[in-house]
Amino acid sequence: MYDYDLLVIGSGPGGQKAAIAAAKLGKRVAIAERRDMMGGVCVNTGTIPSKTLREAVLYLTGFAQREMYGASYRVKSEITIADLLARTQHVVGREVEIIRNQLLRNHVDILGGTAHFEDPHTVTVSGAERGDHSTVTAEYVVIATGTRPARPPEVEFDDDEYHVVDSDAVLHLHRVPTSMVVVGAGVIGIEYASMFAALGTKVTVVEKRPNMLDFCDPEVVESLKFHLRDQGVSFRFGEEVARVENTAKGTITSLASGKKIPADMVMYSAGRQGVTDELALDKANLTADKRGRIAVDQHYRTEVEHIYAVGDVIGFPALAATSMDQGRLAAYHAFGEPARELHGLQPIGIYTVPEISYCGRTEAELTETATPYEVGISRYRELARGAIVGDSYGMLKLLVSTEDRTLLGVHVFGTNATDLVHIGQAIMGCGGTVDYLVDTVLNYPTLSEAYKVAALDVTNKIRALEAYR
Ligand SMILES: Cc1cc2nc3c(=O)[nH]c(=O)nc-3n(C[C@H](O)[C@H](O)[C@H](O)COP(=O)(O)OP(=O)(O)OC[C@H]3O[C@@H](n4cnc5c(N)ncnc54)[C@H](O)[C@@H]3O)c2cc1C
Repeated sequence: MYDYDLLVIGSGPGGQKAAIAAAKLGKRVAIAERRDMMGGVCVNTGTIPSKTLREAVLYLTGFAQREMYGASYRVKSEITIADLLARTQHVVGREVEIIRNQLLRNHVDILGGTAHFEDPHTVTVSGAERGDHSTVTAEYVVIATGTRPARPPEVEFDDDEYHVVDSDAVLHLHRVPTSMVVVGAGVIGIEYASMFAALGTKVTVVEKRPNMLDFCDPEVVESLKFHLRDQGVSFRFGEEVARVENTAKGTITSLASGKKIPADMVMYSAGRQGVTDELALDKANLTADKRGRIAVDQHYRTEVEHIYAVGDVIGFPALAATSMDQGRLAAYHAFGEPARELHGLQPIGIYTVPEISYCGRTEAELTETATPYEVGISRYRELARGAIVGDSYGMLKLLVSTEDRTLLGVHVFGTNATDLVHIGQAIMGCGGTVDYLVDTVLNYPTLSEAYKVAALDVTNKIRALEAYR
């Protein structure tokens, strides 16, 4: 007899939902988590603080209102780091409480500390204090230990002065930097670059690839780059960082091409590493790859049958949204509860300022697979709601099959993009055509009206095509 039916290691979105799903099935469940990290990276250092910080930046800078009230409009003229972090701390504290309460309400035991395997069914959880540890056995184990920022060994991070930081330390800054170098134009790097640019920081982005966010629609990425440049962001694409000097006054980033960039602060966003080093995986007959990731099958089962792994520790797509479902599905599979696989159609949301979101295929993918399509575009500046909210740059783009009029992709740039995308996702998920949007009445004035305008645009183009046949 085991102490628990399920032991979950890590309380991020994946672990949390695995624990709750198993508890709802009437199983005896425990979750191991470090005492100061309830809710995982998601709640403490990742999704929630970064998105709350973004909201605080947008509000305090009055950024979204400047089209209306002029470029000098501010809610607060001198924005301090305390102003920004107050909101973040409030939201994080609230989320931690909600998660802890949900776990306790569902009778999930919380084991505070760092877990490691003793054998494939036995795990010891050690707290920070000497003697503060417990060893428990479980029939099934879900590993949901997530990732941490990768720190290149040649870079000297200083966690005291916060001159050279990663995306965790950026949440503990003492001041809003005047200038900043962001190394790596991945999603996290570019989200922070755009937030600091909105705050008035002079940002330089260094990226060794020739472009950024190349999985997104190129037109949307061009719009984002235009906006960021307009806010004073400089891009150094195709450039590598050779050295970062940390001086008493700030930093000097030397590029391999010989350029030198002086800045108050450097933020490294150079990928993430799976947190598997403290798990003693060998004792469970498991291994991780060199990026700390654990391999799983389609049911999130590792090579050891009763041990599952979910969330960022298994790699792509490494999103809070997908991690939650992976956790639920792993628990269902372990206990033989019937469940359907996740729908293949998943949205991507990038919370830059302005935000980007898409679902389905891109023009490049459709062209590569020789899929005939037509494009319908709606610009926010032509929507009444666009004028009301002061967004003149936003746009929504529909990609529609010219063969059967099904929706193949939706790409949104601008206010509420990450919410709006779900309308297109639902239509695509149900195999719907563009005619649904043409024949549907939407609330007015809304940004959702962009769907109607883009649908009419694309159907007019398809009609023109047919008229010439
Ligand atoms: C800056 C940033 C912004 C992001 N923004 C978004 C976004 O907008 N949307 C989105 O969907 N995703 C976003 N993500 C990604 C999202 O945060 C992750 O996909 C999600 O948190 C992964 O969940 P997880 O279940 O793998 O666990 P994580 O949230 O990674 O948490 C893992 C937990 O495991 C614990 N743990 C590790 N080892 C042990 C051990 N040995 N014993 C006990 N506990 C252990 C850790 O303490 C940690 O709390 C962002 C990430 C970052 C860093």
